[in-house]
Amino acid sequence: MTFDVLGLSADLLQTVAEEGYQAPTPVQREAIPLVLAGRDLLAAAQTGTGKTAAFVLPILDRLRDKANTSFSPARHPVRVLILVPTRELAMQVDQSVRTYGRTVPLRSTVVYGGIPIEPQIKALRAGVEILVATPGRLLDHVGQRTVNLSQVEILVLDEADRMLDMGFLPDIRRILELLPARRQNLLFSATFSQDIRDLSGSLLRDPATVEVAPRNTAAEAVRQLVYPVDRDRKDALLAHLIRKHDLRQVLVFTRTKLAASRLAARLDRDGIDAVAIHSDRSQPERTRALEGFKTGEIRVLVATDVAARGLDIEDLPVVVNFELPWNPQDYIHRIGRTGRAGATGEAISLVCIDETDLLRGVQRMLRQAIPWTVEEGFIPDRDVEPRPLGARAGHARVGGEHHAQRKPVRRRTGTGSGSGGARRV
Ligand code: AMP
Repeated sequence: MTFDVLGLSADLLQTVAEEGYQAPTPVQREAIPLVLAGRDLLAAAQTGTGKTAAFVLPILDRLRDKANTSFSPARHPVRVLILVPTRELAMQVDQSVRTYGRTVPLRSTVVYGGIPIEPQIKALRAGVEILVATPGRLLDHVGQRTVNLSQVEILVLDEADRMLDMGFLPDIRRILELLPARRQNLLFSATFSQDIRDLSGSLLRDPATVEVAPRNTAAEAVRQLVYPVDRDRKDALLAHLIRKHDLRQVLVFTRTKLAASRLAARLDRDGIDAVAIHSDRSQPERTRALEGFKTGEIRVLVATDVAARGLDIEDLPVVVNFELPWNPQDYIHRIGRTGRAGATGEAISLVCIDETDLLRGVQRMLRQAIPWTVEEGFIPDRDVEPRPLGARAGHARVGGEHHAQRKPVRRRTGTGSGSGGARRV
């Protein structure tokens, strides 16, 4: 199937051709005609499926009727609001809007926390039709009356499940109250939990459902391997494996940002260029780290699940679970970063005795046992007793990024200090 049959206008078809896209992805095939027809949408699609183009392209076509080149800000009200959980995703979606919309005279901007608010205010004042935003910073702008959402025609919630995980539901509800009742709503989520169903029930009108297979079903393109190892020898084993197999561009996952920082520092000391990417890093630091990783300057990027979410880094040869995630679903997200486009990727998990239950959970979800191997020199000590994995109250990820996300929700007052300072991702 080609893009031509989806109903997009000629200049957008030209744009996608220039981008080198030969055929629409499954989510694009299904979603584009529905969005063009004005339907509400409930779409299950992960990052990497082409979901951004699936909503941005038809939105551009729907907006073009009133597109204009007027200098008057009043002629450029916010007509589309795209809410995303993280600033990395915000930056990426904004870039996609610019890329796909380069022939359409519509203005767009992006607002997210962690950077000064003034330049964002200036951009908003000039008038923009398409606004990409993280919920916290958007509410800061609302508090300062620097944005008017009363003319929004289309609302997109991107990675809605992650927004709920991060405690954004109250913020989202507040934002919904500011929007006109009549509008088109598009909800994208990697998973369809009960919370997502509840949200979509209250948000969407007669939605069409689009469900595409995850880009990778874990079993297919990704070779998975578990290395049992003692808890305090994981970093040595990782350094050893990186050297032995000359691994490059390794994305390593930890459960907490503390573990991420420690591991990156340790690898760096060992002469393996590594950087941790998490909430305590400033935006420029994180952008630099990501770029260094993409260019190959940085060999190992250590990330928590929250920090890695939405990052446009895929197609990696190898992903390492330095610590298994609390949530088996995150395992799928993690290893989905590798093994794309027919290439075989590798997902290595370093598992200590404390993580036996987590491994069991992953295998139950995969409905398969992951093969394992023991590395010479790192054979685990049989006599070690398992220890509980940190303090975890219920499902709250204490000490992890999720915990850090939750707190600031109640602190929102629109003081102008920006949500980003508190709500870092
Ligand atoms: P997304 O799932 O929106 O994060 O997109 C993942 C990647 O797929 C991005 O780098 C896009 O540039 C790319 N992409 C989107 N649509 C297509 C397509 N139809 N053909 C090839 N690549 C695409």
